[in-house]
Order: sequence, then C-alpha cells, then structure tokens
Amino acid sequence: MSSNLMANYGRFELGFDRGVGSYLYTPEGDRYLDFASGIAVTSLGHSHPALLASANKQLEKLWHVSNLYTIESQSKLAERLCKNSFADKVFFCNSGAEAVEASLKLARIYHNSSGAKDRWKVISFRNGFHGRTFATIAASGQPKYLKGFGPVFDGFTQVNFLDIEAVRSVIDSETAAILVEPIQGEGGIHVASDSFLKELREICDKNDLLLIFDEVQCGVGRSGRMWAHEWSGVKPDIMATAKALGGGFPIGACMAIEEVGNAFIPGTHGSTFGGNPVASAIANTVLDIVDEREFLQNVTNVGDILVSNLQEVIKRSSIISEIRGRGLMVGLQCLIPAGDVISAFRKQKLLSVGAEGNTVRFLPPLIINELEVNEACTAVSKALQRLEC
Ligand SMILES: *Cc1c(COP(=O)(O)O)cnc(C)c1O
Repeated sequence: MSSNLMANYGRFELGFDRGVGSYLYTPEGDRYLDFASGIAVTSLGHSHPALLASANKQLEKLWHVSNLYTIESQSKLAERLCKNSFADKVFFCNSGAEAVEASLKLARIYHNSSGAKDRWKVISFRNGFHGRTFATIAASGQPKYLKGFGPVFDGFTQVNFLDIEAVRSVIDSETAAILVEPIQGEGGIHVASDSFLKELREICDKNDLLLIFDEVQCGVGRSGRMWAHEWSGVKPDIMATAKALGGGFPIGACMAIEEVGNAFIPGTHGSTFGGNPVASAIANTVLDIVDEREFLQNVTNVGDILVSNLQEVIKRSSIISEIRGRGLMVGLQCLIPAGDVISAFRKQKLLSVGAEGNTVRFLPPLIINELEVNEACTAVSKALQRLEC
C-alpha cells in the first residue's frame, strides 16, 4: 500500500479508533486487550474519566502561552514531582528523548559552571535505550540506531549492564556522568540489582560524577513505586521521565537536585511546548491518581498475579523460557522470534510489544484488574498452543 508517510516505522495493518479502559476497538468493532499501552504511555487506560475532565476543562480555558510567562499548573506539577522524590528542580519538555537530552546537557553545564570544564563524557550501558536524537542514539550506542547517520556524537562509552568493574575501568578525568535505566525497557526488561545501583552511586560520589537515571519507561508507577529507583533506595542527581507522565498526552521532564538543577540559568535551555497548560493540567491529574500508596500497591499486587499466572501458563512451554520484570513491566523471554509470538498474541486479540533479545513486553495499563489478567493469560495460553502445534 502506498502512503505519504515516511516508512521509518514497521507498522501492522491494524488501527484503532476508540479506546476504553484496558481495551482498544477497531473501526469494525473488534476489541483488543491493550497490554502495550502505546509503549508504557496510557497507564491509566483509555478515556479515563478524570483525565478527560481535566483535559476538557483546560482546553476550554487556555491551550498555550509559551514559557515566556508564568504557567501555574506547570509550577504546581514541578512542586508535586519534587515533593515525593529526590528532586528539587524540574525542566519540562515533550518526550523521553528530550528529557534525556536535557539531562545530558544539564550534566555538562553543571560541571562547566562549577569549574570542572573538562568533564563532559558520559558512561552508559549496552542494551540501553535513551531516544532517537543524535545525542541519545550515541548514549544508547546500539549499532542499529546509529547506522547511516554519520559520525557518532562524541563523548559516550558503553559498558555491559550490571558490570561494575567495567564502569570503573572506563572512568577518567573527563567523565561527567553515568546514565542508566533502573529497569532496561527496550533492551528486554532487565532490572538493575539494588547492589549495582548502590555501587554506581558510590562510584559517582567518589569521582565527582553525576548519576542520571532514565526513568522514561520504568517511571510513573510502572514498577509498583512512583520511581523504579525507589526500590533500591539509591537516589540519582538527575532523572529523565516522560512516557506515562501525561497518560497519553505528550510531556517529558528532567528532574534534578537543587545544586545541579540550578546550572540551567536563563537562556541555557528551553522548549516551546514543554509543560504547556494542557500537558501540565493532565499530568497533574495523572499524579493525583498514580502517586498514591494504594494505587501503587495495587500495581505490585496485580503484577504479581500476572507473573505467577504466566509462570503457570509457560510451565511446559517450548516457546517461552522465562518471565522477568517488576510491577507491570513484564518481559517474556522467547525461544522463537518474538515477532511470531507477538503476532500469535495479536490473533488472540491481545496487544504486546517487542524488545531486544527476543523479548515480548507486557506493559498493561496500571489500572488492570484480575479479570483482565485472566483474559490475557487465556489468550497467551491459546496462542502458545497454536504456535506449538
Ligand atoms: C521511550 C524511551 C525513551 C525515548 O522516549 P521518546 O518519547 O520516544 O523520545 C528514552 N528512554 C527510555 C528508557 C525509553 O523507554
């Protein structure tokens, strides 16, 4: 089929025109259970009444003014993000890549303005994913994202995930920061151990490096805590987040401790749309719901049920060998091409997402209930049966 769209995405011949809760509907009325959530974005499901209400209310009042002016809902959002986290300062943007980009720029300008002008390099991890801008593909370091785009943006070194000795071995006097996802998402759902994050913190403290967490995917409740790093007790100096922050409306944030955040003085960085009134109003409502103990506890509970039911389903499977993850960020290790498994799930009206290393990701809305978990497990069971014969 010819199209005026650039062909950068491998799309399915499947489209939806309506969503309610955990379900998506095609124009023909077929219903799919959405365990992809637009890649960890629609965490409150589709057409959540509270999000609709706050969006509609704001849309009728004011859409956009630019960051030349005070935006009350943006200030409030920053205040709330800081209140329950390590952070004291926030910069808003519109996407994950921009949030990581801002984090990297902040790390460099912080060192520059505090007298360590030669510190500009960043250590990151193989299999990591940080976005698709020039700097963030260099940070990810994966050949498949770099190929064809000319010289790689300078200053990034990757070492193996969880390999603390490798981190030590590449630090030099020009190192500015370490960038890591507390749970690798695109890389195939790999959870960083608490001890690994603790050791990274110690290394950063000892060598005057900044610790940057990329919680674009694992943040905003997905792991069962507001921020995935809370499980370890380790605090970063800078953190990037986005995806679920706007519940489906684009917004990203770079959060930092006071001393570091203060390095963004007027004129150093900016974004036309970042934290605009509509995005901020919606994100405030997302926080109203997600940043609550009961809600987060339920993510852990439902996630545990999902994983234990899946374990039961794959017990004798020759197709899936392992289930891993945290909260509602679940990876299924496949022994056949993950794409085939995703198609088989899709035929059972269950949506999932692929990841590196033959992994299928389940990133359901955080509002799913046990009935929906059972429905998903039945679909998985049927799909695996079909694939196995
Ligand atoms: C998705 C993702 C990004 C990039 O976010 P975009 O909104 O697509 O730019 C960055 N880091 C991680 C960990 C992600 O999962």
